[in-house]
Amino acid sequence: MIDRDRLATLREDEEARFVTQHPRSAALAEEQRASLLAGVPMPWMTRWPGAFPVSVDSAQGGRLVDVDGLEYVDLCLGDTAAMTGHALPAVTEAVTARVAAGATAMLPSADAAWVGAELGRRFGLPFWQLAVSATDANRFVLRFARHLTGRPRVAVMDWCYHGTVDEALAVLDETGAVVPRPGALGPQADVATTTAVVPFNDLDALDERLAQGDVACLLMEPALTNIGIVLPSDGYSAAVREITRRHGVLLVIDETHTMCAGPGGCTSAWGLEPDLLVVGKAIGGGIPCAAYGMTAEVAGRLSGPMLGHEIDVAGVGGTLTGSALALAAIRSTLSTALRDEDFAVAVPLAERFTAGVAGAIDAHGLAWHVQRLGCRAEYWFCPPPPDGAAAAAAVDEELEGLLHLWCLNRGVLLTPFHNMALLCPAHTAADVDRHTEVFSEALAALAG
Ligand code: PMP
Repeated sequence: MIDRDRLATLREDEEARFVTQHPRSAALAEEQRASLLAGVPMPWMTRWPGAFPVSVDSAQGGRLVDVDGLEYVDLCLGDTAAMTGHALPAVTEAVTARVAAGATAMLPSADAAWVGAELGRRFGLPFWQLAVSATDANRFVLRFARHLTGRPRVAVMDWCYHGTVDEALAVLDETGAVVPRPGALGPQADVATTTAVVPFNDLDALDERLAQGDVACLLMEPALTNIGIVLPSDGYSAAVREITRRHGVLLVIDETHTMCAGPGGCTSAWGLEPDLLVVGKAIGGGIPCAAYGMTAEVAGRLSGPMLGHEIDVAGVGGTLTGSALALAAIRSTLSTALRDEDFAVAVPLAERFTAGVAGAIDAHGLAWHVQRLGCRAEYWFCPPPPDGAAAAAAVDEELEGLLHLWCLNRGVLLTPFHNMALLCPAHTAADVDRHTEVFSEALAALAG
């Protein structure tokens, strides 16, 4: 349906336009290539469309300005890390004060109890620990799960993403065998020996796999968000809880992205009952931090090991973890953002985005769809897929690359890895409509 020659021609034009528009970013990219692997401080940054990533100058609310002075509607929002909108004034104030008063001392600060209680209030779990990133938190939780159950494997959903967690970089191949996720570098162990993988929305597969008795925990997002948005089918979440309980498998819900569903993520919005819960990125307003919570029952079973003399070499925690800076960042973020009143502004904007994109897709008679979860929305080049593998099969790098570059060249940033837009309270209806306009123009250009 997509004319590939036309797509290639449009891409060439957009590449040229990008280079012309970004002389300062081009010069910085050239300098970066001299000292930074792949020319960037973190390899994912090579995934932005265009010959080089733009360099950021400043970001405020829902807007970002690059070093060439070009302003963008930022729908990437740091791939969720800036879900609150950039540069929240309360966070700037609290973090500045905390840095001036000492950022890290390997001691709790006066913010610690507030943070634990607030996370408990939001997610309904009574005991909490901090981590530097959601990846870290997931790693620690998997370790706890193996320790508590004495079982060797963790279960994940096919085509999930939970950070750079070795066990979770696994997928099912066409024969149903567990294999490394395509692209995973240097797996530390054969994932077939560490991981069980099941398709999302497939209860029979989950039940059958967990019945083998070797799985310590199921680590899952309540809705997949890293391969487009795949929502659970009716009754799926409750049945997952029943099956995990029946097989003595701990249920770990990763709310790092799905916090877009509300102040307590899907766990609170949908009444989920995880044994452990991970949340990261957005809760620190841009300062690296994450947290994991647990039931009183899990906490009771862990409290012994946590007080052991060798806890510093137990494989959980880290020197910068739970720093006074992170605690100040979380407290100031959660007291002024990601609250009901903030979602009451951001969610209707995401609904507007979804309606705009759906309208353009319909107008061009395309069999694509746009899905929304709270203030997050994503379009995909296929009808709604039931699971991650079906979503992955619809990935179209060429098409995605053109659409992202087209939007960027017209002042709209999407997350580079997929067609995701996150709306924050600082965005406006005009921002959303700007995306609808440029997206529609791109579809018209593709149609010829
Ligand atoms: N969990 C989920 C669901 C994620 O999407 C991600 C990152 N995209 C992570 C964990 C890891 O977050 P980080 O890269 O900040 O460690």
